Amino acid sequence: MQPATRCICCDTPCTRNQLSKEHAWGWLRRKYRSPGVTRTHHLTSKAIRNPSTGVLFDRGWNEARHAGAPIDQPLRVVCKPCNNGWMSQVQVRARPIIEHLADGSWPELDPEKRRILAAWVTLFVMTIEFRDPPTIATSKAARMTFRRTLQPPRDWIIVAGLCSAPGLSGTFWHRGAALYYEPAVAIPKACNTQTTTFSVGRAAFHALSAPPDSLLDAATYAGNLGLRLIWPILSPPPERPLVFTEAGLGRAAAFFSDRLRIPEARVSAR
Ligand SMILES: [Zn+2]
Repeated sequence: MQPATRCICCDTPCTRNQLSKEHAWGWLRRKYRSPGVTRTHHLTSKAIRNPSTGVLFDRGWNEARHAGAPIDQPLRVVCKPCNNGWMSQVQVRARPIIEHLADGSWPELDPEKRRILAAWVTLFVMTIEFRDPPTIATSKAARMTFRRTLQPPRDWIIVAGLCSAPGLSGTFWHRGAALYYEPAVAIPKACNTQTTTFSVGRAAFHALSAPPDSLLDAATYAGNLGLRLIWPILSPPPERPLVFTEAGLGRAAAFFSDRLRIPEARVSAR
């Protein structure tokens, strides 16, 4: 049989059966599902904005509803050797830290713990993006490099926090955008910017990747969101944050796109 696709992380040609059925959430599906969420409401949108504003975004509205919670949505994009090998290791290493955070505690996040957590968030973002291919903003090269180094790309910002109630557990917002800064070499054809916000138990995670020209100061960005900086690793270690409500987490998820006045574009959530 002709290979139908390629593993998104190692580029090996695969038939559908050679792809792992593993969900992006891994073991979290058993422990951190939110019982009230039984359907997935998936919204995406794109709009064009005048390039002089620095933002381009082009696609119509789309809305879909799927049976099952977001945490249960299948994602056949990685090969079994990747899934059972290095990806599994990333999850195993991060699991105790995530479980602490998901319980609402805030362990001391020394640089090594932040590195482990950042690798896991990066893996999550790089795979969950494939739920809506037009909003994929991570390049194939970035995924290949990540598989080798297990470090987030240099220009990523990853933050974490705590939520008051686990009602959002197992849900996520993913927003993609094509940003363009003058003097640009070319108008980007695909998204080059994304934010992903998701929650596990009482823990919340948010990742931003954007072109180097738009790089924000990571510590300032985390401070604006009210979340704690995990990546890049800076001192001092992140202190226990204020606890977010569901609405507060929604605002943090939208902060970057609101700031750039990007219309709603998301793979939602609920
Ligand atoms: Zn692979």
